[in-house]
Amino acid sequence: MARIVMKFGGTSVADMTRIKAVAARVKREVDAGHEVAVVVSAMSGETNKLVGYAREASALHDAREYDTVVAAGEQVTAGLTALALQAIGVNARSWLGWQIPLRTDGVHGKARILGIDTDDLTKRMKDGQFPVLAGFQGLGPDNRITTLGRGGSDTSAVALAAALHADRCDIFTDVDGVYTSDPRIVTKARKLDKITYEEMLEMASLGAKVLQTRSVELAMNHGVRVQVLSSFVDAPGTMVVDEEEIVEQQVVSGIAYSKDEAKITLVKVADRPGIAAGIFGPLADAAINVDMIVQNVSEDGKSTDLTFTVAKADLDRTVQVLESRKAELDYKAITPDPNVVKVSVIGVGMRSHAGVAQTMFKTLAERGINIQVISTSEIKISVLVNEEYTELALRALHTAYGLDAA
Ligand code: ADP
Ligand code: ASP
Ligand code: MG
Repeated sequence: MARIVMKFGGTSVADMTRIKAVAARVKREVDAGHEVAVVVSAMSGETNKLVGYAREASALHDAREYDTVVAAGEQVTAGLTALALQAIGVNARSWLGWQIPLRTDGVHGKARILGIDTDDLTKRMKDGQFPVLAGFQGLGPDNRITTLGRGGSDTSAVALAAALHADRCDIFTDVDGVYTSDPRIVTKARKLDKITYEEMLEMASLGAKVLQTRSVELAMNHGVRVQVLSSFVDAPGTMVVDEEEIVEQQVVSGIAYSKDEAKITLVKVADRPGIAAGIFGPLADAAINVDMIVQNVSEDGKSTDLTFTVAKADLDRTVQVLESRKAELDYKAITPDPNVVKVSVIGVGMRSHAGVAQTMFKTLAERGINIQVISTSEIKISVLVNEEYTELALRALHTAYGLDAA
């Protein structure tokens, strides 16, 4: 007998037909004698709708009330899934974040999980009850509902698996595993049988939305065995594993992209000590995260151009902060550009192989794609290019690194 956490994403619980299919899938594990806890997302499209309502009610909405609204989608699916399970003879019971409680910090809209009290859940599971948790939501320090950031049900599931010392955490979604690149764009993408935690973490944080970044971080830290698989077809998915478990290593194992960033160039900013601190200090104070940065060599020794990226959602605020500091920073102009995409190649094999970056630069050059900014770390290389080249860049790189399906 194993203890399994089964998480179902939005498309997997999109309507009553899907919810009944989910219940049948859960019942199979129950009938096999396993202890099962279920975690569900909201019906697909539901969270977007609720976010839209909150924004319409008030553009600068109170983050606490935003969470009260957007957490509602998961309450519906938790109840419906419990009902569908009961209807086929499974003793299921729904749980909202506050009922468990799943404790989080107070950062509304992107709260972090602090701990899950599993005493009651474990006792009931031992007595033959099957909990169905509303994902994405928790209880903040002031006893108000919090949410875990978009895609956060993945993190609810992995955190629950860690707290319950589950043997496995199965993440059911609309694709049958983790692919070498987003299969909706790169039609030749290949399904991976296994991927390392580290690579999955980079893939997720660089834009592959198949798992929320935080869920991979948690799985890695707590050694939770995560499987990504389809709720639509019956086939094994992708296991996220330790590096030692991968026998044949590719130099590059995946290519991700993100359209969530925007580029800003400060033209002719003074080239003197303290300028970088003068720019990035106020941005940090405004809770604006900066990702890629390049500073050009100053030609005249007096001024230079400085380019960096921020989240697209922070672009207007960034410009505002910098404009308010114009006198002190002494730049000529600000040029914001939201039409960019960050394309990243990822692979633990990069540690021991040279020439990976060269392949990327050459491939993009051959397609006439200009690279605007580059950043690298031990197991990834990212470039910023014009958004219109997203598909072309992804497909060309996928072929260049020998990742195309046969
Ligand atoms: P869910 O609602 O089940 O949580 P998501 O939409 O959050 O599903 O995540 C699944 C989607 O992630 C897929 O439909 C796919 O388009 C996208 N995706 C992006 N990159 C990858 C990748 N490398 N492998 C698999 N799916 C990916
Ligand atoms: N329903 C939430 C969202 O759309 C959480 C999730 O699906 O994981 O972001
Ligand atoms: Mg998701």
